[in-house]
Amino acid sequence: MAENTIYVVLQHRDGKLHRMSREAIAAAQMLAGTIGGSVEAVLLGSNVGDLADQAAGFDLAAVHVADLPVLESYTPGAYVNVLAPVIREASPAFVVFPHTYQSVDLVARLAQEIDAAYVPEVVSFEASGDDLLWRRPVLGGKLQARVRVKGEGTVFLSVQSGAFRADDAAVAPESGGVAITPLAGTDVSSDRELLGVEQVGGDQVDLSKADVVVAVGRGIGKEENLPIVEELAAALGADIGASRPVIDNGWLPRDRQIGSSGQTVAPKLYVAVGISGAIQHLVGMKGAQCVVSINKDPSAPIFTVSKYGIVGDLHEVVPALTEAIQAARG
Ligand SMILES: Cc1cc2nc3c(=O)[nH]c(=O)nc-3n(C[C@H](O)[C@H](O)[C@H](O)COP(=O)(O)OP(=O)(O)OC[C@H]3O[C@@H](n4cnc5c(N)ncnc54)[C@H](O)[C@@H]3O)c2cc1C
Repeated sequence: MAENTIYVVLQHRDGKLHRMSREAIAAAQMLAGTIGGSVEAVLLGSNVGDLADQAAGFDLAAVHVADLPVLESYTPGAYVNVLAPVIREASPAFVVFPHTYQSVDLVARLAQEIDAAYVPEVVSFEASGDDLLWRRPVLGGKLQARVRVKGEGTVFLSVQSGAFRADDAAVAPESGGVAITPLAGTDVSSDRELLGVEQVGGDQVDLSKADVVVAVGRGIGKEENLPIVEELAAALGADIGASRPVIDNGWLPRDRQIGSSGQTVAPKLYVAVGISGAIQHLVGMKGAQCVVSINKDPSAPIFTVSKYGIVGDLHEVVPALTEAIQAARG
């Protein structure tokens, strides 16, 4: 067992490393800092030379690359074929994955294949004596569990979106490049054929990539009041999101919903307007770096996750804020 080695398995789309891959690198580096270890990345795909270079831009001990036509699209069989022998042989202490749909499909079966422990949806960890304790949400985020893994062997972790900050992923020092090593790709076959991928809803909004989100809740009162929030979003260059009642009332389309049954976002700035902060909403936005809330109820739970809270009537506060931002931006 390579006691101090941490692997991080990267995911990518459209020739770019997924934001959550950078969050996974940040988590792995933080873990390495805690246990005194080093981080090595694993990248799978076809024609992924550029992606390997992007990965090598981070402070990693190595980037291992499986570059094979069969890995053009994700299929669980081919990924298990590649990853299982590599992890079995290297026997790292931990393997970190971003917690994505792909990981939900892959990681449990990979863990079973090599008899590893698996802690999904990790949001933080702490050292306790010789142990590491992992914190993860349960019951749809209503509770958080602390988990200790018993026994020996490699431990798999998947880290929840927004729990670790992509910006915290340390980049490689200028001197000394990161070694990119090819992985042997023998016996890699796919267990299924991907027939195609279709965009659902055509021009659906992907709020997960937004840097700034202005989210509107039931406190807006009625659809006719939305323009004041849209003006604030325009002044900030933000995307608009919403809590579920706004969607259920048909005031905004479903792809704007943030929360447990909507999208998960992790913007740098999240402005919550007339949102109470129900747990189902919080699980979708608590990865935001800075939350600013406007609510007339000083005891609204949204204030507990906010860096800045404005207690007041949104009909007065929002236009004043928009005007101040417009003035500041000239
Ligand atoms: C299975 C399930 C899944 C769910 N999934 C989601 C989800 O994905 N996303 C989600 O958001 N919810 C979800 N919900 C609903 C969730 O429980 C809450 O009901 C919802 O988040 C509340 O939305 P809200 O904060 O906009 O409304 P409310 O809770 O009604 O809050 C409105 C807020 O606006 C404030 N307000 C009112 N007027 C003004 C004013 N003039 N100025 C300033 N403030 C004002 C009030 O003080 C209040 O805090 C789900 C629920 C269930 C059961």
